[in-house]
Amino acid sequence: MKLVFLGTSGSFPSKDRMCPAILVEDNFLIDCGEGALHRLLNLDVNLDTIESIFISHIHADHISSLPMLLWTMWLQGRKSKLTIIGPPNIQEVVESMLQLVGTNPERFSFTIQYKKIDGAGDLGEFEVFPVKHGVPTFAIKIGDKLVYTSDTAPCESLIDFAKNCKLLIHETTFPDEMKQEAHIHNHSSPFDAAVIASKADVEILSLFHIPPPFQNLEEKFITQAKKHFDGKIFSAKDLQIFRI
Ligand SMILES: [Zn+2]
Ligand SMILES: [Zn+2]
Repeated sequence: MKLVFLGTSGSFPSKDRMCPAILVEDNFLIDCGEGALHRLLNLDVNLDTIESIFISHIHADHISSLPMLLWTMWLQGRKSKLTIIGPPNIQEVVESMLQLVGTNPERFSFTIQYKKIDGAGDLGEFEVFPVKHGVPTFAIKIGDKLVYTSDTAPCESLIDFAKNCKLLIHETTFPDEMKQEAHIHNHSSPFDAAVIASKADVEILSLFHIPPPFQNLEEKFITQAKKHFDGKIFSAKDLQIFRI
Protein backbone atom coordinates (compact mmCIF):
# COMPACT_ATOMS: atom_id res chain seq x y z
CA MET A 1 0.00 0.00 0.00
CA LYS A 2 1.39 3.37 -1.01
CA LEU A 3 0.72 6.42 1.16
CA VAL A 4 1.64 9.99 0.36
CA PHE A 5 1.50 12.44 3.23
CA LEU A 6 0.18 15.57 1.53
CA GLY A 7 -0.29 17.62 4.68
CA THR A 8 0.93 16.81 8.18
CA SER A 9 0.46 20.00 10.21
CA GLY A 10 -2.27 20.22 12.82
CA SER A 11 -4.88 22.91 13.44
CA PHE A 12 -3.40 25.39 10.94
CA PRO A 13 -0.69 25.31 8.30
CA SER A 14 2.89 26.57 8.47
CA LYS A 15 5.23 27.66 5.68
CA ASP A 16 6.40 24.09 5.08
CA ARG A 17 3.50 22.01 6.28
CA MET A 18 -0.09 21.90 5.14
CA CYS A 19 -3.14 20.66 7.04
CA PRO A 20 -4.06 16.95 7.24
CA ALA A 21 -4.41 15.05 3.99
CA ILE A 22 -3.08 11.60 3.06
CA LEU A 23 -3.33 10.03 -0.39
CA VAL A 24 -3.67 6.24 -0.41
CA GLU A 25 -2.86 4.30 -3.61
CA ASP A 26 -3.46 7.42 -5.71
CA ASN A 27 -7.23 6.91 -5.57
CA PHE A 28 -8.33 7.48 -1.98
CA LEU A 29 -7.90 10.71 -0.09
CA ILE A 30 -8.02 10.77 3.70
CA ASP A 31 -8.96 14.28 4.84
CA CYS A 32 -8.63 17.35 2.67
CA GLY A 33 -7.17 20.12 4.81
CA GLU A 34 -5.76 23.43 3.66
CA GLY A 35 -3.11 22.88 0.97
CA ALA A 36 -4.20 19.39 -0.11
CA LEU A 37 -5.08 20.46 -3.65
CA HIS A 38 -1.78 22.27 -4.04
CA ARG A 39 0.15 19.23 -2.83
CA LEU A 40 -1.69 17.02 -5.37
CA LEU A 41 -0.68 19.48 -8.09
CA ASN A 42 2.93 19.51 -6.77
CA LEU A 43 2.96 15.74 -7.27
CA ASP A 44 1.32 15.79 -10.72
CA VAL A 45 -1.48 13.56 -9.46
CA ASN A 46 -4.20 13.22 -12.07
CA LEU A 47 -7.27 14.30 -10.10
CA ASP A 48 -9.43 11.91 -12.14
CA THR A 49 -7.74 9.00 -10.38
CA ILE A 50 -9.17 10.08 -7.02
CA GLU A 51 -12.29 7.97 -6.59
CA SER A 52 -13.16 8.65 -2.95
CA ILE A 53 -12.52 11.23 -0.27
CA PHE A 54 -12.89 10.42 3.42
CA ILE A 55 -13.46 13.42 5.69
CA SER A 56 -12.80 12.38 9.29
CA HIS A 57 -14.63 15.34 10.83
CA ILE A 58 -15.90 18.80 10.07
CA HIS A 59 -13.08 21.06 11.25
CA ALA A 60 -11.51 23.61 8.93
CA ASP A 61 -8.06 22.03 9.04
CA HIS A 62 -9.52 18.74 7.69
CA ILE A 63 -11.91 19.99 5.02
CA SER A 64 -10.91 23.49 3.86
CA SER A 65 -9.26 22.39 0.60
CA LEU A 66 -12.31 20.37 -0.48
CA PRO A 67 -14.40 23.12 -2.19
CA MET A 68 -11.40 24.16 -4.31
CA LEU A 69 -10.56 20.55 -5.13
CA LEU A 70 -14.14 20.00 -6.32
CA TRP A 71 -14.03 23.21 -8.35
CA THR A 72 -10.78 22.15 -9.97
CA MET A 73 -12.11 18.69 -10.81
CA TRP A 74 -15.14 20.35 -12.42
CA LEU A 75 -13.16 22.92 -14.39
CA GLN A 76 -10.82 20.16 -15.58
CA GLY A 77 -13.91 18.41 -16.96
CA ARG A 78 -14.02 15.41 -14.67
CA LYS A 79 -16.68 12.92 -15.74
CA SER A 80 -16.35 10.05 -13.31
CA LYS A 81 -18.38 9.85 -10.11
CA LEU A 82 -16.73 10.96 -6.87
CA THR A 83 -17.61 9.44 -3.50
CA ILE A 84 -17.34 11.58 -0.38
CA ILE A 85 -17.52 9.75 2.94
CA GLY A 86 -17.91 11.58 6.23
CA PRO A 87 -19.92 12.35 9.37
CA PRO A 88 -23.75 12.45 9.18
CA ASN A 89 -23.85 16.10 8.05
CA ILE A 90 -21.18 15.73 5.35
CA GLN A 91 -23.49 16.34 2.39
CA GLU A 92 -25.10 19.39 3.99
CA VAL A 93 -21.69 20.84 4.87
CA VAL A 94 -20.14 20.31 1.43
CA GLU A 95 -23.21 21.64 -0.38
CA SER A 96 -23.38 24.66 1.94
CA MET A 97 -19.70 25.43 1.37
CA LEU A 98 -20.26 25.27 -2.38
CA GLN A 99 -23.42 27.39 -2.24
CA LEU A 100 -21.59 30.03 -0.20
CA VAL A 101 -18.98 30.34 -2.92
CA GLY A 102 -21.65 30.65 -5.60
CA THR A 103 -21.64 27.12 -6.93
CA ASN A 104 -24.59 24.84 -7.36
CA PRO A 105 -23.10 21.33 -7.43
CA GLU A 106 -25.72 20.42 -10.03
CA ARG A 107 -23.60 22.38 -12.50
CA PHE A 108 -20.67 20.04 -11.96
CA SER A 109 -19.58 17.83 -14.83
CA PHE A 110 -19.54 14.85 -12.45
CA THR A 111 -21.78 13.47 -9.75
CA ILE A 112 -20.96 13.22 -6.08
CA GLN A 113 -22.18 10.27 -4.08
CA TYR A 114 -22.23 10.75 -0.31
CA LYS A 115 -21.75 8.03 2.28
CA LYS A 116 -22.68 9.14 5.76
CA ILE A 117 -21.08 7.52 8.77
CA ASP A 118 -22.88 7.58 12.08
CA GLY A 119 -21.03 4.97 14.09
CA ALA A 120 -18.51 2.16 13.95
CA GLY A 121 -18.81 0.15 10.79
CA ASP A 122 -17.25 -1.94 8.07
CA LEU A 123 -17.67 -0.17 4.74
CA GLY A 124 -16.08 -2.94 2.69
CA GLU A 125 -12.77 -1.47 1.65
CA PHE A 126 -12.22 0.08 5.08
CA GLU A 127 -13.57 0.27 8.61
CA VAL A 128 -14.42 3.36 10.65
CA PHE A 129 -14.61 3.95 14.36
CA PRO A 130 -15.79 6.98 16.39
CA VAL A 131 -13.11 8.72 18.45
CA LYS A 132 -13.25 11.47 21.10
CA HIS A 133 -13.06 14.94 19.64
CA GLY A 134 -16.10 16.99 20.64
CA VAL A 135 -17.66 16.78 17.18
CA PRO A 136 -18.47 13.50 15.37
CA THR A 137 -15.01 12.26 14.34
CA PHE A 138 -13.96 8.94 12.86
CA ALA A 139 -10.77 6.94 12.77
CA ILE A 140 -10.26 4.79 9.67
CA LYS A 141 -8.61 1.40 9.16
CA ILE A 142 -7.60 0.05 5.78
CA GLY A 143 -6.98 -3.70 5.77
CA ASP A 144 -4.64 -4.71 8.59
CA LYS A 145 -2.10 -2.19 7.46
CA LEU A 146 -3.16 1.32 8.29
CA VAL A 147 -5.06 3.08 11.05
CA TYR A 148 -5.45 6.86 11.03
CA THR A 149 -6.88 8.20 14.28
CA SER A 150 -7.80 11.68 13.05
CA ASP A 151 -8.09 14.17 15.93
CA THR A 152 -8.85 12.61 19.30
CA ALA A 153 -8.31 12.69 23.02
CA PRO A 154 -6.81 9.40 24.25
CA CYS A 155 -9.30 6.78 23.13
CA GLU A 156 -8.92 3.32 24.73
CA SER A 157 -11.16 1.73 22.11
CA LEU A 158 -8.51 2.49 19.51
CA ILE A 159 -6.40 -0.27 21.06
CA ASP A 160 -8.72 -2.95 19.73
CA PHE A 161 -9.41 -1.08 16.51
CA ALA A 162 -5.69 -0.79 15.73
CA LYS A 163 -4.69 -4.21 17.11
CA ASN A 164 -1.63 -5.60 15.27
CA CYS A 165 -1.87 -3.14 12.41
CA LYS A 166 1.30 -2.22 10.65
CA LEU A 167 1.17 1.57 10.75
CA LEU A 168 -0.72 3.70 13.26
CA ILE A 169 -0.94 7.37 12.33
CA HIS A 170 -1.87 8.99 15.63
CA GLU A 171 -2.40 12.67 16.22
CA THR A 172 -0.05 14.41 18.69
CA THR A 173 -1.24 18.00 18.96
CA PHE A 174 0.48 18.94 22.23
CA PRO A 175 3.76 17.87 23.89
CA ASP A 176 3.59 15.71 27.03
CA GLU A 177 4.07 18.65 29.38
CA MET A 178 0.80 20.11 28.01
CA LYS A 179 -1.16 16.88 28.31
CA GLN A 180 -3.91 18.57 30.33
CA GLU A 181 -4.48 21.17 27.61
CA ALA A 182 -4.43 18.38 25.04
CA HIS A 183 -7.19 16.49 26.81
CA ILE A 184 -9.28 19.62 27.50
CA HIS A 185 -9.20 20.36 23.78
CA ASN A 186 -9.90 16.72 22.81
CA HIS A 187 -6.38 16.07 21.55
CA SER A 188 -3.47 13.79 22.46
CA SER A 189 0.21 14.01 23.37
CA PRO A 190 3.11 11.72 22.34
CA PHE A 191 2.65 9.75 25.58
CA ASP A 192 -1.01 9.09 24.71
CA ALA A 193 -0.17 8.01 21.16
CA ALA A 194 2.67 5.76 22.31
CA VAL A 195 0.55 4.02 24.93
CA ILE A 196 -2.14 3.23 22.36
CA ALA A 197 0.51 2.05 19.85
CA SER A 198 2.15 -0.15 22.46
CA LYS A 199 -1.07 -1.73 23.75
CA ALA A 200 -2.27 -2.28 20.18
CA ASP A 201 1.06 -3.95 19.26
CA VAL A 202 1.41 -1.97 16.08
CA GLU A 203 4.69 -2.11 14.19
CA ILE A 204 5.17 1.55 13.34
CA LEU A 205 3.84 4.74 14.93
CA SER A 206 3.63 7.95 12.95
CA LEU A 207 3.21 11.15 14.94
CA PHE A 208 0.89 13.45 13.03
CA HIS A 209 -1.01 16.75 13.34
CA ILE A 210 1.73 18.68 15.17
CA PRO A 211 0.69 22.36 15.00
CA PRO A 212 3.10 25.11 13.87
CA PRO A 213 4.02 26.35 17.40
CA PHE A 214 5.42 22.89 18.21
CA GLN A 215 6.92 21.89 14.87
CA ASN A 216 10.40 22.84 16.08
CA LEU A 217 9.90 20.40 18.97
CA GLU A 218 9.47 17.40 16.68
CA GLU A 219 12.52 15.54 18.01
CA LYS A 220 11.22 16.06 21.53
CA PHE A 221 7.83 14.63 20.53
CA ILE A 222 9.61 11.54 19.16
CA THR A 223 11.72 11.19 22.33
CA GLN A 224 8.62 11.46 24.50
CA ALA A 225 6.83 8.78 22.46
CA LYS A 226 9.87 6.45 22.44
CA LYS A 227 9.73 6.14 26.22
CA HIS A 228 6.47 4.23 25.94
CA PHE A 229 6.63 2.41 22.60
CA ASP A 230 9.37 0.03 21.41
CA GLY A 231 8.51 -0.04 17.71
CA LYS A 232 9.59 2.32 14.98
CA ILE A 233 8.46 5.94 15.33
CA PHE A 234 8.56 8.78 12.86
CA SER A 235 6.98 12.16 12.51
CA ALA A 236 5.29 12.39 9.13
CA LYS A 237 6.46 15.16 6.78
CA ASP A 238 4.64 16.73 3.85
CA LEU A 239 5.24 14.94 0.54
CA GLN A 240 6.73 11.93 2.30
CA ILE A 241 5.94 8.68 0.52
CA PHE A 242 5.51 5.61 2.69
CA ARG A 243 4.96 2.03 1.55
CA ILE A 244 3.47 -0.59 3.86
ZN1 LIG B 1 -7.24 18.90 13.23
ZN1 LIG C 1 -10.37 18.61 14.79
